[in-house]
Amino acid sequence: MLNFKELEIIPEIRESLEDLGFENPMPVQEQAIPILLNGDKDFIGLAQTGTGKTAAFGIPILQHIDLQSNKTQALVLSPTRELCIQIARDIESFAKHMKGVKVLPVYGGSSIETQIRGLKRGAHVVVATPGRMLDLIRRKQTNFSSVKIAVLDEADEMLNMGFRDELDGILAETPDTKRTWLFSATMPREIKDISSRYMHDPQEITIGTRNTASKNITHMYFVVSNSSRYQILKRIVDYYPGVYGIVFCRTRRSTQEVADNLIQDGYNADALHGDLSQAQRDYVMQKFRRKNLNILVATDVAARGLDVNDLTHVINYELPDEPEIYIHRSGRTGRAMKSGISISLVGPKRRHAISRFEKKAGTRFERGKVPTGNDVCEKQLFDLIDRVEKAEVNEELIEKYLPDIYKKFEGLERDELIKHFVSLEFNRFLNYYKDARDLEIKDSASFSAAKGKAKGRGGSFAPTRKGDARFFINIGKTDKLTVPKLIGILKEVTRNRNIPIGKIDILKNFSFFEVKQEHTDLLLRSFKKAFYKGRKLNVELSKKPGTKPAKKVRTVKVRKS
Ligand code: AMP
Repeated sequence: MLNFKELEIIPEIRESLEDLGFENPMPVQEQAIPILLNGDKDFIGLAQTGTGKTAAFGIPILQHIDLQSNKTQALVLSPTRELCIQIARDIESFAKHMKGVKVLPVYGGSSIETQIRGLKRGAHVVVATPGRMLDLIRRKQTNFSSVKIAVLDEADEMLNMGFRDELDGILAETPDTKRTWLFSATMPREIKDISSRYMHDPQEITIGTRNTASKNITHMYFVVSNSSRYQILKRIVDYYPGVYGIVFCRTRRSTQEVADNLIQDGYNADALHGDLSQAQRDYVMQKFRRKNLNILVATDVAARGLDVNDLTHVINYELPDEPEIYIHRSGRTGRAMKSGISISLVGPKRRHAISRFEKKAGTRFERGKVPTGNDVCEKQLFDLIDRVEKAEVNEELIEKYLPDIYKKFEGLERDELIKHFVSLEFNRFLNYYKDARDLEIKDSASFSAAKGKAKGRGGSFAPTRKGDARFFINIGKTDKLTVPKLIGILKEVTRNRNIPIGKIDILKNFSFFEVKQEHTDLLLRSFKKAFYKGRKLNVELSKKPGTKPAKKVRTVKVRKS
C-alpha cells in the first residue's frame, strides 16, 4: 500500500490530511490519485459513496489549480445541496494549509445573489447542484473559460433525479480542452451514454465489484405480512440497542405514517420527505447528524443528500423496485470501512425480488427470524447490564452526593438494589413484550398460502412430494419459458427421457422444478455447461431442510414419456 507521500501529494495537503486523521489512502484514493494528478485523461471511477472518493478527486483538483489566477478552474457537480456543501467543505479542509484557495458551493434553496457575489469575487473551485448552476449560467453570471476539470459526482444519482438536460447545458459552457472525471456507484446504460458523449477514451477504475454492494454490509431479510410489518419493524429496532439508522419507505405518505407511529410509540424518530419545507428538512437532517435522533424515516429522494458515515442499520420498510436503488440504500451503512446491516421487510408477494437483489449485490441475503418478545428482552437486558458495567464513574463529581445516596439505599440488600436499577430502565420492554406473540411467518403456512392466493401458483421453497428435491433455474416467463419447454430442457440436458419430474413453478425471471432426490447429482452435473438461447443456465438446489410442503400450490404433473 502506498502512503500519501508516495502518491505525490504536496506537503501542504498532507499536513491537512494529518489534521483530519487520515493515516493511509483508501483504495479509491490509491488508485485514482496517480491517474488524476497526471491529468491528461478523462476518468471514470466506479465507487460507492463512503469510499473516500471526495479526497480522490478533491486532492488532484487542488494540485492542478493555478493560484496566480483568480478564475474558476474546476467545476464539481453533485446531485444534492447537502452533498454539494459537504464536498465544498471537504475540499476546503484539504486546502487548509494552502494559501488563497477559494472554494464556492452553489446550490438551490439559498440566496442566488450571495452566490453571484461569490462568483464575481472569483472561486477556483465551484461545487454546484445542476439546477442552480444552469440558472446562473443562463443569467450570464459565470465564466468557465478557464475550467480545466469538470467532475460529475454521483453521476447515476444526477441522472436518476432527471438532471440530464442540466448536465448537457452546463458542460456545453466549459472548454473542450477540459478533463472530465465521472464518479458513480452504478454503471447503468445512461452513464455509458454520458461517457461516450462527453469523454474521450476515459480511464476506468472499479472499487469493489461493479454495481455490487460493499463487502462490509450484512444483508438480511424478514418475511412480513402487511398487517405485521410495523410491529416487526419495532421488534427489529428494539432488538438492536444503539441502533442509528434510516428506515426507507416508498412514498411520502408511508414515510410520515411510520415516523408518526414510531414517535407515538416513544422512539426517537422523525420523518424526512419532499412534503417538508427545506427548513424542516434541514432541521431533521441536522438532528439526525448530531445523533439527537436515532431513527430517520425517509424517502429515497429526500435521503439522497444526507451524508452520514456511521449508520449501524439501513432498514427497507418497503422494498424498492430497482436493485440499483437497493444498492444505494444499503450503501448508506458499512461506510468508511465500518460494518453495517441492511435489513429488508419483504411481503410475500415481493419475496422473489430478493434473488434479483442478491444477484445485483453479489452476495447472499440471510433470512432473519423475527425476534420474539423474549429475544428482545434478553438482548436489551444484557445491553443495559453491559452499559452499567462499562459506565465511566467520575469519582470527584459524584463524591459529595454519595453519603446521601448510601443513606437512602441503606435498607436495600445488594440483590434488591440491582433489581431496582435494572427494572427502572427495563420495565418498558418487560411490560411491552409480556404477552407478545410470535410474528415470524412460517414458510409452509402463511407465506405459501398468501402467495398461492395472490397468484394461484406459489414459489414455495419446500418440495411438495416426499423424496423430491426442489431446484431453482435462472430462466422464467420473461425468457418465454413454459412448462413443456422446461420439461424438454430437463430431458435434453440430462439426456434422460424418463427423468421423473414433479411440480414445476414458472415465475417471472426464474423457475422451480422438482425431481426425485436420487437424480440431484445428475442434474447439477448436467447443467454445469448448459445454455438456453445463448444464456448460461444456472441450476441450484433450493430445498430448505425442515420446512413443510406448501399448500394451495398448483402442481404440474408430467406425463411419463
Ligand atoms: P467520502 O466517500 O469522500 O464521502 O468519504 C467517506 C468518509 O471517509 C469521510 O468521512 C471521509 O472523511 C473519510 N475518509 C476519506 N479518506 C480517508 C482516509 N484516507 N482515511 C480515513 N478516512 C478517510
